[in-house]
Amino acid sequence: MKRQVTRRPKRTAARRAPSPRARRARPAKLVFAFGGGRADGNAKMKDLLGGKGANLAEMAGLRLPVPPGFTISTAVCTYYYTHQQGYPPGLHEEAARQLARVEQLVGRRFGDPSNPLLVSVRSGARASMPGMMDTVLNLGLNDQTVQGLITLSRNPRFAYDSYRRFVAMYGDVVLDLKPRSKTDIDPFEEILQRKKQARGVKLDTELTADDLRELVAEFKTAIAERKGIAFPEDPQEQLWGAIGAVFGSWMNERAIVYRKLNNIPESWGTAVNVQSMVFGNLSDDSGTGVAFTRDPSTGENVFYGEFLMNAQGEDVVAGTRTPLAIAALERENPRVYAQLAKIRRTLERHYHEMMDIEFTIERGRLYMLQCRVGKRTGAAAIRIALDMVKERLIKPREALLRVEPDQLNQLLRPTFVGAEKERAIHAQRFLARGLNAGPGAGSGRIAFHAEDAEAAQARGERVILVRIETSPEDIRGMAAAEGILTARGGMTSHAALVARQMGKVCVAGCEALVIDYTAGTMQVAGTDKVLKAGDDISIDGTTGEVFLGQIPTEPSEVVRVLVDRTLDAKQAPIYQQYAQLMKWADRERRLTVRTNADLPDQCTNAIAFGAEGVGLCRTEHMFFGEGKIGPMREMILAETTAERRAALARLLPLQRADFEGIFRAMDGRPVTIRTIDPPLHEFLPHDDAGQQQLAAQMGIPVERVRNRVEALHEFNPMLGLRGCRLGIIYPEITEMQARAIFEAAADVLHAGIRVEPEVMIPLVGHVKELELQADIVRRVATDVMAEKGARFKYAVGTMIEIPRGALTADAIARVAEFFSFGTNDLTQTTLGVSRDDAGRFLVPYVREFEIYRRDPFESIDQEGVGALIRIAVERGRKTRPQLKIGICGEHGGDPESVIFCHRVGLDYVSCSPFRVPIARLAAAHAALGAAGGGGEGA
Ligand code: PEP
Ligand code: MG
Repeated sequence: MKRQVTRRPKRTAARRAPSPRARRARPAKLVFAFGGGRADGNAKMKDLLGGKGANLAEMAGLRLPVPPGFTISTAVCTYYYTHQQGYPPGLHEEAARQLARVEQLVGRRFGDPSNPLLVSVRSGARASMPGMMDTVLNLGLNDQTVQGLITLSRNPRFAYDSYRRFVAMYGDVVLDLKPRSKTDIDPFEEILQRKKQARGVKLDTELTADDLRELVAEFKTAIAERKGIAFPEDPQEQLWGAIGAVFGSWMNERAIVYRKLNNIPESWGTAVNVQSMVFGNLSDDSGTGVAFTRDPSTGENVFYGEFLMNAQGEDVVAGTRTPLAIAALERENPRVYAQLAKIRRTLERHYHEMMDIEFTIERGRLYMLQCRVGKRTGAAAIRIALDMVKERLIKPREALLRVEPDQLNQLLRPTFVGAEKERAIHAQRFLARGLNAGPGAGSGRIAFHAEDAEAAQARGERVILVRIETSPEDIRGMAAAEGILTARGGMTSHAALVARQMGKVCVAGCEALVIDYTAGTMQVAGTDKVLKAGDDISIDGTTGEVFLGQIPTEPSEVVRVLVDRTLDAKQAPIYQQYAQLMKWADRERRLTVRTNADLPDQCTNAIAFGAEGVGLCRTEHMFFGEGKIGPMREMILAETTAERRAALARLLPLQRADFEGIFRAMDGRPVTIRTIDPPLHEFLPHDDAGQQQLAAQMGIPVERVRNRVEALHEFNPMLGLRGCRLGIIYPEITEMQARAIFEAAADVLHAGIRVEPEVMIPLVGHVKELELQADIVRRVATDVMAEKGARFKYAVGTMIEIPRGALTADAIARVAEFFSFGTNDLTQTTLGVSRDDAGRFLVPYVREFEIYRRDPFESIDQEGVGALIRIAVERGRKTRPQLKIGICGEHGGDPESVIFCHRVGLDYVSCSPFRVPIARLAAAHAALGAAGGGGEGA
């Protein structure tokens, strides 16, 4: 369905009126120097200097070879957006002073025709946003300074090559001359292609200095013609144009999308780094590269990266040429390689982290352009953390904090079924191999454009986004796809970095693929295999293989050891690392972790993942099973108590058997069973055929079914005859369930298995409701114990899931022996948002309007729902200090929410089986003081 929300014009912060306070505020120091053996900042100042600026300062402080420069702080960005895109007084002067310092250090002058200083102007936010904002390189070139560059470099071709790159980049980024649609060709690229055609050459490198000089002029003409502006020749004008464009790029669409996907607040802003240029494309003994201090895919302790000789950084990151592995640099230039290897060690020992670095070699001299903590897969995160403990770089507690709880998801990810993959190979469905850029395996239909991937996902299809190379514009499509396949680019290309960060399957740099966007085809070079958009393919991000058609997947190593038990733990190194980490996590955490499970096999899985009890068994789910829906429907359709009792009598043994299975599986661990909470409409057939069939089965007239369905119809069934309301109106239902629970408990006890049932009454808003239900449960418990001659411990408690329940928790705790927060319903009722259909507006609520920071059904709305939780905890414990309190809404498996639960003093969280490991690690993070979002007000 189309969204009904009327789109407002895109906001830019500049349109908002600055608050009087913001208007007054003029940040103290605006510009921070680095290089020349010293720095004004350091790595701890990310908030102010952005990640790039802070780490450049840190490296300069470590006396690593950093080209000198300066960082204009994020505070200036904030000022810029609250002052109609203006700068604080004094900024130009401070920047001029720092530029003069750089000139002195480098021994060149900005704008000097005989000895020009050139600079790069780059963004750098607090959190890394790879490629989302703008960069301008080679700034300071004009028709005069290019002559100086020719003299300095003794290489006119290089000088004009730099110049034409600068004009194109400036034209794109600052003057906004860029392709407008997905099939539009880059205007500068078009001119370049024409030039190559005219000269009869294939490669850029075959163009002569004269060709490149002509290109510069042609680029400038294109700018003048298409944008109606002259290209600025004045380096100062160029500099401030670029600084403004970088600040402006904080609010470009792809940066906004990226921030939303990664929960980066708009208020952080970006810093701008102005740094003297060094040239990787100056000569054959120049080059540029990117590297990780360990393998970011597996975590192995090897130097990992790639480089290109005679190239600029953009060539590596954009993936337009496929680079060489870093080991090859040792052959190319052993001295530089040794220096780089030493820097690798220095950085790891200094940061105690796996770092991601960018470097340039200019005429055999090494320069460090960037370092930051390296992104990594879940498996790599664990391995690196464990190895660093062994290497005594960090302690186990630090190791725990190095792994994001959600990263564990990646360890639980599927791979192709081995035999199925073999079959695909035998059937000659192997198409090509690229780089194994993002582990896991996935299948889907080919989509060549990000928009197509998004649209297909909206239709419920699984897609693989196939691109020549990805760019930040593709981010939404990447998020929508199962996996990403690119024809060009290395392990550190945009596609690879972003896919790893998103935890997506990715094969990059699959060069055998010839992708034609216009024709909508992908051909495997040298063969007649041509695939179209919509065709099925499968990609293995762990090996880099690409196959035709779908290939079934199988669960991860951890799942095979723990759940399927088809793999011996000793043969499973990733499992072993996982197990070690979990052991440390369990040592730290205070929260108990339970699971939401309705069936014995779910319980068994959850125990394998470390669950310590069942926090929620939804008894109504049991009725979806074979043979049970019939009596359940009869029970719902019953018009008299006698009829209902007859149906319940048929349900009793079925329920008893279910509970017995769960008690046995849980083997003495606590089990919270909730009395029935059925949205009744879910259980009845609504179509005519279904009603006819049910009537025939039950031997009643179809009108009776129809009338009952009609009578049960509610406008918002989520707020209707649900939860304890049903058991209050029809007490015999609660009676039957209590009997099934306690009889099962007695039987299991007789079999020598400990049991500890906890009966939980749902949707309680008034203590009287709980009293009525608890009386029944306790009476039945006494009866069953007497009948069966068994004694067992049990408890009666309640869910706190509507605001009145939370607000009157003191009264409710007089009766309840435990509370469990049903945050699904508590969110629904607190926000007044129906959980059935909120998705329609919650997506724009979160992404577009930033009303909630995250979807409140995914992560607790700490200010609103969280406030009620705090009240209920406080009031409940006032009445009953030892009150056991947990949570069993979906939030129980969300790391931020788990941390919140720890902070407000809950005893346990309960979540679905596969999220149990995530909750355990999140609980350890909580105990170690992790922040957990939500801010102070939470
Ligand atoms: C809840 O409301 O959070 C809950 C766990 O119950 P259900 O989702 O079954 O309503
Ligand atoms: Mg509920």
